Amino acid sequence: MSQPDHAIPFNRSSIAGREIDYIQQTVAAGQIAGNRQFSLKCQELLRATLGVPEALVTTSCTHALEMTGLLLGLEPGDEVILPTYTFVSTANAYVLHGVTPVFCDIRPDTLNLDERLLPGLITSRTRAIVPVHYAGVGCEMDEIGRLAAQHGLAIVEDNAHGLFGKYRGRWLGTFGELAVQSFHETKNITCGEGGALLINDPRHTERAEILREKGTDRARYFRGQVDKYTWVDVGSSYVMSDVLAAFLYGQLEVWPAIQQARQRVWERYHGALADWAAQRGIGRPHVPDHCEQAWHMYYLMMPDAAGQTALIQHLKARDILAVFHYRPLHLSPYAARWGGREGDCPVAESVCDRIVRLPFYNDLSETDQDRVIEALLDYPG
Ligand SMILES: *Cc1c(COP(=O)(O)O)cnc(C)c1O
Repeated sequence: MSQPDHAIPFNRSSIAGREIDYIQQTVAAGQIAGNRQFSLKCQELLRATLGVPEALVTTSCTHALEMTGLLLGLEPGDEVILPTYTFVSTANAYVLHGVTPVFCDIRPDTLNLDERLLPGLITSRTRAIVPVHYAGVGCEMDEIGRLAAQHGLAIVEDNAHGLFGKYRGRWLGTFGELAVQSFHETKNITCGEGGALLINDPRHTERAEILREKGTDRARYFRGQVDKYTWVDVGSSYVMSDVLAAFLYGQLEVWPAIQQARQRVWERYHGALADWAAQRGIGRPHVPDHCEQAWHMYYLMMPDAAGQTALIQHLKARDILAVFHYRPLHLSPYAARWGGREGDCPVAESVCDRIVRLPFYNDLSETDQDRVIEALLDYPG
């Protein structure tokens, strides 16, 4: 089912620079599979900017997450702890390979995985913790890192929202031994569908290349390190086409401008709605002083569920689309098999009934944003 078009949509993608020019270049070069010029440029930019040992662009963030499960050797019966308040892929990429997701509640302030609950969730079968930097605001990585080290667990950061954000001065995506990015159209930087695997522990690099190339050592072959390539491991087809990488590079190379544009949108909402929200008991995003956020979204926290419905309706009547996802994963139909029950994660259960996410995209004009702000100021509730 597709959403009806709104005068002001929740999200839309736009051209940031030379995307089309680069697509023409890669098509003209006659080589549009993966591992070509623009894929390599994207990877080099991510490595150089973030200072990660390796970055591999992939078909999606979901696929990059799947690769992390394979790289960590996770097996049926193993457990992975992740926030219940996240996109389904954070869990499903592991579930697909038989791993059991253990859903953790979130902090009421940042809506990030609540690290204080981790000690109660870690068992002898826990293998990894997968924090999601919700809205591009860093999770409490000091404490998560301490617990992971103490229990011998891997950390995989789901950094789909957090590219170019920082926690205590350090880039998000550089804390876990592995981290994943999304370039889906709903993310700050996009090529429609795409992702990346960031490898902070170089032990994983060689196998990651093989898993991404259908279980073959084709990457080594391309570099001239072997004279033929062959089937050496399990794997799948996780390589990004260079057509998409060309689009992606057009966005990545101007990332500071994209982030600046989004910062501006975020700060205009935050300033314009401060008094209005305070007078009505409506919450606004909280960014701790030690976090530099990635400007991924702007949300309001209504006092109750009726307020959520009413505000979304109020905006809809003015042809403005605001949304309320996620729904907590532990209460989803598929998660019933692990016995998720109402009351397990009270913060996420309350947040999901109260949150309203406002239209937020790179080329949201001031005029359109003013229409959203005026509609909100006009809200009778
Ligand atoms: C968007 C998103 C994903 C999935 O990204 P795809 O590139 O569409 O696979 C995973 N995790 C989170 C937190 C996301 O927001």
